[in-house]
Amino acid sequence: MKPDRPRTACAAAAQDEADQRRRREIVRSLTRWFARSARDLPWRREPMPGRRDPWASLVSELMLQQTQVARVLEKFPEFMARFPTPTHLARADEHDVLAAWSGLGYYRRARLLHAAAKSIVERFGGAVPENPDDLRSLPGVGRYTAGAVASIVFGLGEPIVDGNVSRVLLRLRGLEQSPADAADWCWEEATALALAAGKHVGVFNEGLMELGALVCTPRTPSCGQCPLADGCEAFARGLTDRIPAPKPPAARKGLTAHSVVVLSPGGKVLVERRPAKGLWAGMWQTPTLEVPRDASDEAPLFQHPPADLLSLLGLGFASLESSPPTTFSHATTHRDVLFVVWHARCARAAAAGKDRSWISPADVAGLALANPQRRIIEAAFSPSPRRHGSSVRGG
Ligand code: SF4
Repeated sequence: MKPDRPRTACAAAAQDEADQRRRREIVRSLTRWFARSARDLPWRREPMPGRRDPWASLVSELMLQQTQVARVLEKFPEFMARFPTPTHLARADEHDVLAAWSGLGYYRRARLLHAAAKSIVERFGGAVPENPDDLRSLPGVGRYTAGAVASIVFGLGEPIVDGNVSRVLLRLRGLEQSPADAADWCWEEATALALAAGKHVGVFNEGLMELGALVCTPRTPSCGQCPLADGCEAFARGLTDRIPAPKPPAARKGLTAHSVVVLSPGGKVLVERRPAKGLWAGMWQTPTLEVPRDASDEAPLFQHPPADLLSLLGLGFASLESSPPTTFSHATTHRDVLFVVWHARCARAAAAGKDRSWISPADVAGLALANPQRRIIEAAFSPSPRRHGSSVRGG
């Protein structure tokens, strides 16, 4: 009887060849589709023919990590006009960086980008490095961002895997797993595809992200318009709604934030700086008392402020208005925050105090504010009626 080893090796070689063919077909179909369908986004423009601006690419990747494209499109041109190179950002004051980031949320990324710019200036002479290991050594730059910049800007055969990409890869192979459980497999598959793409790796990687963002969406993917539908297992077997498998929900913390809008006799609003660490570190806010709450609790009705709210906040010089507070909820990555907004007035001009300041409407744009606090302060300066009970998410 013949040993079965040669037969097994033969089958493995045939499978390998089939996988290679399949990947080459994916690369071909996707790069053609992307050439036709790519959105015209400012960070995709080429200051020199055939070459993207690596700084613009790095900034956009960090902005896009946790913020919708539409919001990034609003803020990116302004940010780049203000900090057109790593050197410009490295020299900037942190407060100005946070103010320019305002509206994008998740401000830790702004601090990391600021630190990355300083590192680029100190260690790489002000030029974004090409080498993926050098890129990954920058603050805030992980495997995904390094792979995106190295492949899209510098044409290096690096893989990228984010939520969009892993969803496409798992569906193509028909694997009913969550992206977290299949993370190693996704990186291996993306690496094999990046190698198959050769000199087209940048276009291919960007096409993969674009397909996940526009066509292979989490719910109701547009398989009828997908360039990869012919070879897609999930589509063929009717599994698109089961892939990727959901990940178990993370435990969330609840918080009630009692914010007090204090108006001065001259119509100014009092703001204070948050602590340098923790949620919304170092940003500005109306004086706020935060109280932990069970995230699963229903939002209570607030008829009265917490006892001694003003003195707890060091606002003994102000008096609360009797009108009921406005409330709205805000979700961050790990918390559900219920904002309860009270209003108070000062009968006389009072000193703001340490880490506090009186601001007028003209000051708001230049202030580093998280989204919910911007909403509170803009409403305080707005003549329109207060709104109740809606929800916002992010930053
Ligand atoms: S055919 Fe459908 S499920 Fe498969 S990759 Fe395309 S859009 Fe995604």
